[in-house]
Amino acid sequence: MIIHKKCEIEELPEGVIGQVGLDQLVHYTEEYHRSETAIIASFMEYLKKKGAYPDYYTGCSEAGYEDRPVIAANWNRVPSRNIEKWLDNRGISLEWSDEWMACSDCYKAVRSSPDSYCWEPSYVWTSDCEIVCRNC
Ligand SMILES: [Zn+2]
Repeated sequence: MIIHKKCEIEELPEGVIGQVGLDQLVHYTEEYHRSETAIIASFMEYLKKKGAYPDYYTGCSEAGYEDRPVIAANWNRVPSRNIEKWLDNRGISLEWSDEWMACSDCYKAVRSSPDSYCWEPSYVWTSDCEIVCRNC
């Protein structure tokens, strides 16, 4: 889809490309192929703007959890619903940032606070005060 309109290029919404043509009009083209990385990067920017302090982990090293990417944040700061499902469809887990931290070695997520009575940490503190997960 191409829309012709006289206006500033700075007004462009995300995912739209604008070019000034020979007719001095801005020609808008929808950017159809946004990579998954770009989508997640702009979602992380959105969370930062909302003050949700997001953390992205490339995987999960917690016992009993699937090893897949995790985005942890303060979700109270984000008004939108269905984010968990939206992330789940992309193979990403949603967690709370005050309950997770990163392994110093592989940077995967480990739970820092219990989620049940029988919970045991999936990490150890090293003598250098680093967190190392059960897999490292
Ligand atoms: Zn690790």
